[in-house]
Amino acid sequence: MSIAENIAVIRAQMEAAAIACGRDPKEIQLCAATKMNNADAVRQAIAGGVDCCGENRVQELVQKSGENAYEGAPVHFIGVLQTNKVKQVVGHVDLIQSVDRMNLLQAIQKEAAKQGISQNILLEVNIGNEESKSGFDISDILPLLEHISDFPNIRVCGLMAIPPISQNPGDNRKFFQEMFNLSVDIMRKKYDNVTMDCLSMGMSDDYVDAIACGSTMIRVGTAIFGARDYTKLHHE
Ligand SMILES: *Cc1c(COP(=O)(O)O)cnc(C)c1O
Repeated sequence: MSIAENIAVIRAQMEAAAIACGRDPKEIQLCAATKMNNADAVRQAIAGGVDCCGENRVQELVQKSGENAYEGAPVHFIGVLQTNKVKQVVGHVDLIQSVDRMNLLQAIQKEAAKQGISQNILLEVNIGNEESKSGFDISDILPLLEHISDFPNIRVCGLMAIPPISQNPGDNRKFFQEMFNLSVDIMRKKYDNVTMDCLSMGMSDDYVDAIACGSTMIRVGTAIFGARDYTKLHHE
């Protein structure tokens, strides 16, 4: 199947999942996780109607930006971001979804202030409490937001999570539910400069469950582009 056909299948499933739980399908955006796919594949995904593209690696973001691959769609950063690379990302993407630690938040603030802009971000939560995963502990999020005015050039637009790799279908529902509950808590507190417009969760294997639990953005790679060819991986 072509990229456009894959997207049509995903859209139909997104819509069915939304309707099944009484949600408006328009509330849920499809982010193409474009890592290891070239500019041509990215263009096909945009033509196929994804809402935005998410890149994991600065090197790929810079290269595909140079090739005008993202024309017609917002671009997000969704990977681990080294503080020494924030310059290449801040002001160059519409949303940094993967803000996973305090020193990265500080580095983004500093760079956004220098550029005189406001950078939209999501806070990444290590919802499965996994040693190997990045993200804030769930218990750190509210205390952090109490001090978010220390970061005047950052606008928090929501939360992002990558739950543990599940053994059985449905395993991640409890994590998605916890994320949704956290986002509701945050909305009720009404922090300045903080919205919960975006709850980014759900990938190729579990986006239907994520939508059932309140996701407003799914990040899908494999189901759009096919399996990634890791033999072609270029390390930065
Ligand atoms: C690769 C990636 C995805 C998409 O994963 P698939 O299982 O291929 O859909 C989503 N989010 C992030 C942060 C990723 O790195």
